[in-house]
Amino acid sequence: MSTATSTIVGALACQKNSFLKTLNTKVVSSYEFIPPSTSKEKQNKNNNAAKELKYGVEFEDTVLFPEGGGQPFDKGTVTVLNNGTSSSESKTVEVNAILRDKLKAVHIVDEPIEPGTQVKLEVDWNRRLDIMQQHTGQHLLSAVFDTLQLDTLSWSMGDVINYIELPEKVSNETAEQVQQRVNQLIFESHPIHVVTRDDHGVEIDTSHLPDDYDQSKGVVRIVKIGDDIDSNPCCGTHLSNTAQIGSIVLLNQTSIRGGHSRLYFTCGSRVAKIASEYFDILKTVSGTQLSCQIDDVVTKVDQLSTNYRKANSTISNLTKELANLKATEIFNKLKTTEHGVAYVYREESNPDYLTTVQKELATIINADKESGVDITNKHTLVLINGNQTSNGGMVKISGPKTNEVAAELKQKITNLKGGGKGLFQGKITKYEKGEIESVLSYLDSL
Ligand SMILES: [Zn+2]
Repeated sequence: MSTATSTIVGALACQKNSFLKTLNTKVVSSYEFIPPSTSKEKQNKNNNAAKELKYGVEFEDTVLFPEGGGQPFDKGTVTVLNNGTSSSESKTVEVNAILRDKLKAVHIVDEPIEPGTQVKLEVDWNRRLDIMQQHTGQHLLSAVFDTLQLDTLSWSMGDVINYIELPEKVSNETAEQVQQRVNQLIFESHPIHVVTRDDHGVEIDTSHLPDDYDQSKGVVRIVKIGDDIDSNPCCGTHLSNTAQIGSIVLLNQTSIRGGHSRLYFTCGSRVAKIASEYFDILKTVSGTQLSCQIDDVVTKVDQLSTNYRKANSTISNLTKELANLKATEIFNKLKTTEHGVAYVYREESNPDYLTTVQKELATIINADKESGVDITNKHTLVLINGNQTSNGGMVKISGPKTNEVAAELKQKITNLKGGGKGLFQGKITKYEKGEIESVLSYLDSL
């Protein structure tokens, strides 16, 4: 029976030396583990799918960092060792997650590993290095905002872009100055140390540490950048020098509740990646879509949107003119009949034209009350649009023959749904072949 105990979170090998990539260690315990339900799964009560059984494994020590301080857990592998060494036959399992259970780091794997087993742990180093560039970058960014009396209220690390939450929106000039200052501190290559609270000797605010972390039994670590650039309690794995951040770029800002602001940023190798990706987008937009130089994109898009607004306004004026002509034609036709039926048909399924004709007709009738045209009690008006190639259509019928015409249209159009007495409103989800032609010849015959 193993008498080994696991190292507490706060003093893990990965926290003592964040550049350690592998570690030979021993399994302390291994047990069945059912992952806690996510809030989404809790909401979905019909989700009865059995959770896949996983195993929680604790080791004497680990190079895999559990979630904490805004830093996600590491990914990595466990390789079972034989006489302290691994061979091509050695069994390797993926570590799905590393969770912190109070002072313990629990590695979540797909199968149990016998306590006492000698293993080699290996961290996914490229991923970890990227995470460290973002996390240490955030400490440095927040340290520079601290000098402007702008506290970082929270932060979040994304797969591409991270953000810090600030108490207010900052001006573009301030953001620009902060970006320059952080990049200068990166360039100046300041050492980063982790010290304990006792070593630090100065009272420090630990109110941000999680409640379930027992500070009296655990280790409160203080991450110090340079001599006096920043001191912050944090459990995360950090770089050993600001130069390793590489660079930082501040992106956009969004306003959130309480006048607060989210300032988006990214660090390290992501900066070059994001610059290339954004450049590719601009190249596609300027070259393929706008046929201009990248520098001219803003002017060109401005011109396009001005032209677009002008074109829309022209279309709207022309629609109104056309609708007026149609409304006049209908008015003149109905004026000569006792109980006549008139219709307006438009191929496109956008209802704007039909609505405009209806409005124009109402205006004309109002202006000439002696005409006898009455599309509620005397005359019947049918408005219909769409065809087999359009995305469905609509139909509106008003006047005394509404029920008769609606019944006939329902016979002729399979997918017509709608109703209403005296005023029929219907929707056609899809026209079948020949239907609209048959409808129009029926309406012509009325
Ligand atoms: Zn931190």
